[in-house]
Amino acid sequence: FDQLDGEIWFNGEFVPWKDAKIHVLTHGLHYASSVFEGERAYGGEIFKLREHTERLIESGRILGFKVPYGADEIDDACNELLRRQGFTDAYVRPIAWRGSEMMGVSAQHNRINVAIAIWQWPSYFDPEQRMKGIRLDLAEYRRPDPRTAPSKSKASGLYMICTISKHAAEAKGYADALMLDWRGQVAEATGANVFFVKDGVIHTPTPDCFLDGITRRTVIELARRRGFEVKVRAIMPEEMEGFEECFLCGTAAEVTPVSEIGPYRFTPGETTRRLVEDYMAEVQPKRMAAE
Ligand code: PMP
Repeated sequence: FDQLDGEIWFNGEFVPWKDAKIHVLTHGLHYASSVFEGERAYGGEIFKLREHTERLIESGRILGFKVPYGADEIDDACNELLRRQGFTDAYVRPIAWRGSEMMGVSAQHNRINVAIAIWQWPSYFDPEQRMKGIRLDLAEYRRPDPRTAPSKSKASGLYMICTISKHAAEAKGYADALMLDWRGQVAEATGANVFFVKDGVIHTPTPDCFLDGITRRTVIELARRRGFEVKVRAIMPEEMEGFEECFLCGTAAEVTPVSEIGPYRFTPGETTRRLVEDYMAEVQPKRMAAE
């Protein structure tokens, strides 16, 4: 991935993709003092860019550092980079991390670096294939208690258990893994939030120890706009037995139907299909919709 062409925005400058390098003694690498975002551009516009930028800044604040650029500067950098990369539909990855000035757990005065990369990450457009649903394993690791980890931050360190869980699931032939939380309640997948449907009512876990995704909030709004009742509540894994439909949602995943989680089976149906379609319509720039 470090050999692509194009440019990366790196501490205020556009540098050639292959030159966007950091030192091996970077604090963010050794101690996970790093936060990031994942965004998608559709039709040349980054969906909910400001919300992502604000979350990046807030994630840094939770880790005890100040991202050294304002929201306007970061938004402008993302938009300008998208234009320079020449993509209309692409994935946007801003990241902020403590630099390499001092080594050790404490690195109060290390520079906070910021980079933004944009690449093409196609979404799964074939609606028929998508509607078959993906298979999820049950993860061994659980989302930590918010008193144990900075759950509200999109911090790189929190992804350690996600990568382990996803790799373990993939090794068994699954697409992803569903993680429970420290209490044993249903939490989320390794990079996306989870929803269930039963008798026309939508259920999703309360995001009190995992990311309250921007896609999650969008989907809840779209579902309510459609007249669906959405219950945000604690969900125990045994309840999955009774749910009819299940889907994941996230910036990269968009709305992805699920057919299987461990021993539980779901049949992607009309509710899921409607939300897949509503989400894809919602992310398109509004000026296009008005044309
Ligand atoms: N949970 C995790 C662990 C994620 O990585 C993501 C993707 N950022 C989400 C949920 C969904 O968040 P969003 O909808 O803001 O992309």
